[in-house]
Amino acid sequence: MGFQDLGLGPEVLKAVSDAGYTQPTPIQEQAVPYVLMGRDVLGTAQTGTGKTASFTLPMIDILAAGKAKARMPRSLILEPTRELADQVSKNFETYGKYHKLSMALLIGGVSFGDQERKLDRGVDVLIATPGRLLDHFERGKVMLSGVKILVIDEADRMMDMGFIPDVERIVGLLPPIRQTLFFSATMSPDMRRLADKFLSNPREVAVAPPASPAALVQQFLVSVTRDNKRDVLRQLIRSENVKNALIFCNRKRDVDILAKSLLKHGLDAAALHGDMAQSSRMETLARFKAGELALLVCSDVAARGLDIQGLSHVFNFDVPMHAEDYVHRIGRTGRAGLTGRSLTLATREDSKYLSAIVKLIGKDIPPMAVDGLVVETVETADAAAPSERPRQHGQSKRRSRGGKGGRQQSEQRREPQHAPQPIASAPAEVPPPPPSEKKRRERPRHRDDLGPNVVGLGDHMPAFLTRPVRPFKE
Ligand code: AMP
Repeated sequence: MGFQDLGLGPEVLKAVSDAGYTQPTPIQEQAVPYVLMGRDVLGTAQTGTGKTASFTLPMIDILAAGKAKARMPRSLILEPTRELADQVSKNFETYGKYHKLSMALLIGGVSFGDQERKLDRGVDVLIATPGRLLDHFERGKVMLSGVKILVIDEADRMMDMGFIPDVERIVGLLPPIRQTLFFSATMSPDMRRLADKFLSNPREVAVAPPASPAALVQQFLVSVTRDNKRDVLRQLIRSENVKNALIFCNRKRDVDILAKSLLKHGLDAAALHGDMAQSSRMETLARFKAGELALLVCSDVAARGLDIQGLSHVFNFDVPMHAEDYVHRIGRTGRAGLTGRSLTLATREDSKYLSAIVKLIGKDIPPMAVDGLVVETVETADAAAPSERPRQHGQSKRRSRGGKGGRQQSEQRREPQHAPQPIASAPAEVPPPPPSEKKRRERPRHRDDLGPNVVGLGDHMPAFLTRPVRPFKE
C-alpha cells in the first residue's frame, strides 16, 4: 500500500514525498484512513513507528477546511513532555508546509506572552503539555469549546507522570462532539479503562506487541560495583566505538554529576534533565541531534520519546526502577532499520529491577565482560510480583499550582529523589465513570452520527447545544 492509497490530499502527499517517505509505516496504513473518516482511534504504538505522522497527516487534511477563531483552537494535541510537544510541532511544520494552518505550542519554561499572542490570532492546531494548557485556561486566555479533534499522545507516560487528573479536567472542558485519537506505547487494563472514558466506538490499531523492545537493538548487561561504575562506563564508551549515545541515570542529581565527570575525563558530554532551563534543554538537544555533541546524559522524563536519527548506543548507567522505562530507553536506538546497542550497568543491588525487566521483555540480557576489570555477576532475583512494582499507576502526583514556575518544578517531583521503596499495594484502579459521564459518552459525538435529520447547522455547532443541561432549580 502506498501513501496515495490512504485517502490523503495532494498537498499532504507532496509534503510526505518531500520528506523522503516512500511507504507508509504499518501504524500509518492502519490509522490514517480511519482518522480521515472521523472515527475515534485507539492506537498501541511506540515512538519510532511513525505514530506521529499517523495522526498529523490526516489532521492536516481535515483542518485544511475551516478557519480558526481567536483563542478557540480547532484541534488539541496533549503531550507529556515539552520535548515531545516540540517534536510534534516540527512534524506539523514538515507535513503542513503546503497548507496555511496556524499552530501554537504551549509548553512550560517558555514565556506566556508569545504563547498568548499566538492564541489571540487563532490557531488550528494547539500542541500542549497538560499543565501549561490549564495555566492558560485559568488565565482566561484559551477556550476549548471549539476543539473538534483531540489527540492524547503517550497516554501511558501521562499516567506515569501523574497527569491523568489534568487530562481528565481538560477533556471535561472540550465539547462532547469531537473526534478523539488516543495513543499509548502499552495497553494495560488501566490504559484501556482510561481510553474507554475518552473514546467513543474507537477503531483499534496496534503495531507492536506491548513492551516489545526494538528488534534491532543488541542488549548487554555489564556487572559493576558502585565504586567502579564510572570507570566501566568510560571504558565501554572508549571500546564500543560510540558514535552518539544517550546515557540514562535514574536521578537528576546523578545526571549532572556524571555529565561533569565525563567532561572532566575528556569526553564530549552534556546533561539533559527537567531542572534545566527550557532554553538550555532545547539547545543541548539540538546540538545532540545535529551531531555536535556525542554523549547526552539524561533522565527518563527529559529523554522520553526523543527521535534521534542513527543513535548508536544507549547506556543505562542505572538500571531503571520501572521495567517499562528499560524498553523506552533502549528503543531510542535501533530505529528506522538501523541496528543499535544497549549496555546496562548493574550492581548486585539491582537484581530485583533486572528481574522485572527480564520478565517484561521475556528474555535474558546476555552478560558482557569488560577487559581488565574485576566484576561481580549480577543474578536476577525471582521475577518481582506485580504487587511489588514500585510505581502506582493512575496515582496523581499533582500538587496545586503556585503561579509562575509551578509547572517547571512539578517535573522535579515526578523523578525519584531517593532510593526506591517497593510499594506493597496493587496498582490503583481508575474508577468507573459516574453515571452522568456514561450518559455523556453515549450521546452522539460526531455530526455524521446525528443522522440525516439534523440540518441547517452547517459547520458550526453552537456550544450551548452540546453543553450538559443543568437540573432546574426553583
Ligand atoms: P515517530 O514514531 O512519529 O516518532 O517517527 C519516527 C521517525 O520515523 C521520525 O523521524 C519520522 O520522520 C520517521 N517516519 C515517519 N513516517 C515515516 C515513513 N512513512 N517512512 C520513513 N520514515 C518515517
